Amino acid sequence: MKATEYIARTEEAVFHTYNRFPVVFESSDGVYLKDTDGKEYLDFGAGIAVFALGYGNEYYKNALKNQIDKLIHTSNLYYSIPLMEAAEKLRDKSGMDKVFFTNSGTEAIEGAIKAARKYSLLKYGPERYEIISMEHSFHGRSTGALAVTGNAHYRDPFGPLMDGIRFANYNDIESVKALVSDKTCAIILETVQGEGGIYPADPAFLAGIKEICDRNDILLILDEIQCGMGRCGSYFVWQKYGTAPDIMTTAKALGCGVPVGAFVLNKKVAGASMVPGDHGTTYGGNPLACAAVSAVFDQFEELHLIDHVREVTPYFEEKLDALTQKYDFLKERRGMGFMQGIEVKEGTSAGTIAAKALEAGLVILTAGSNVLRFVPPLVIEKTDIDEMIKRLETVLDTL
Ligand SMILES: *Cc1c(COP(=O)(O)O)cnc(C)c1O
Repeated sequence: MKATEYIARTEEAVFHTYNRFPVVFESSDGVYLKDTDGKEYLDFGAGIAVFALGYGNEYYKNALKNQIDKLIHTSNLYYSIPLMEAAEKLRDKSGMDKVFFTNSGTEAIEGAIKAARKYSLLKYGPERYEIISMEHSFHGRSTGALAVTGNAHYRDPFGPLMDGIRFANYNDIESVKALVSDKTCAIILETVQGEGGIYPADPAFLAGIKEICDRNDILLILDEIQCGMGRCGSYFVWQKYGTAPDIMTTAKALGCGVPVGAFVLNKKVAGASMVPGDHGTTYGGNPLACAAVSAVFDQFEELHLIDHVREVTPYFEEKLDALTQKYDFLKERRGMGFMQGIEVKEGTSAGTIAAKALEAGLVILTAGSNVLRFVPPLVIEKTDIDEMIKRLETVLDTL
């Protein structure tokens, strides 16, 4: 069948909430995707920062195949070995205390909000429920996560959303202080803002927030759904900063393509918030998803992926910097590790560049309307970066 026919039939059946690129991906190998016409694409999007291991990892694939043969699902009414193993690994690598597995990032945010509110309710009563979030943040599409997402365009059609959310400006500690009151229960932020345009937190900003939280027993929720899992050169970005959250959310690369997320609690919150009956999910943490999580952690260790990210990052940044210098419609590069963005100048469309790159056999993403986003699999080598730059230059040369 031709791609146009797959696309037409898909559009007939699937609710139109995405403007998809006219490409039907069918198979994958290493850091390349192949479409139904046999055309190959170098993948610097990784399914939106998901496929950290690249597509050819045999250990990961075998772990899933074995688990499928053994047991795919049981529900959370019972114990399973993969649940134990995955939870231990995530707990130990995060250095936190307790793990709750979800099926997505947005559900991890929902759980984090519920845990924070319950903690505050038990300790301070029902009046202390406000959550401070950041403008230009992104935390997901379910209504609770949407309520804390700092993008009115995403929020407004679905109101009234959850009450008690205030928005401060990212990297502006005074704007946070101005919102703190005896009603504040939690502060939520991405350690590196993703969809909002690839903005790493200033160390002083994060330290300032931590201080506010510690002083007032306000819970710090760090959303590491995109920036975590090794992408920025440590398992979780806050580990680099030395600023531990009370609750952390993770997803995207956690299962490397098998849908899974988690919220992870420190001792304080785990010991005094939700109890049996307060929270649940039918699928969350099922054996198949947890086998994926477990295999991902095993491969991170086996392949020394985090060291690899640290080693290759300077080269990656140097090449992106050179690109930014070369074309006068590119404004600046920002980012951390393998989570990089290039802001384009006004009058230039990042979306157009990404669309043309796709035609030229390169998958890159955008963040907002004016940032090119590069979130490749963590296994890329310098040669893949060279090839990416080459393909991107063929596009930029035509602008
Ligand atoms: C992608 C993302 C989410 C939402 O995750 P889903 O799995 O799409 O629900 C939340 N927060 C951040 C920072 C993200 O990048």
